[in-house]
Amino acid sequence: MVKLEDLSAEIQTFCQERDWGQFHSPKNLAMALSVEASELLEVFMWLTPEQSQALTQEQRAAAKDELGDVMMCLLNLAHRLGIDPLQAAADKLEKTKEKYPVEKAKGLAKKYHEL
Ligand SMILES: [Mg+2]
Repeated sequence: MVKLEDLSAEIQTFCQERDWGQFHSPKNLAMALSVEASELLEVFMWLTPEQSQALTQEQRAAAKDELGDVMMCLLNLAHRLGIDPLQAAADKLEKTKEKYPVEKAKGLAKKYHEL
């Protein structure tokens, strides 16, 4: 099992070895994250909901690759911003729990202001 901090450090080494840090402003990394997320979407584009739940081996491999790209961009951006991505997710989950209390949100796909 790969540890998140080890992966993040390996990404930094990868970028340093290639002198790519000069291109990795937070703005560029945020844009790259969005592009990679879109590449993940492309795997599912035009599939029915049922097809998206039963991907072919090739589709699943493509989704795995793009998830990897998304994760690498996210970790690189978090590193650049000095943000612990796991803590950020944990903090955001707590905020989201407050916005979507179980008694109001259970079984509904509505925005918090519509509850
Ligand atoms: Mg990609």
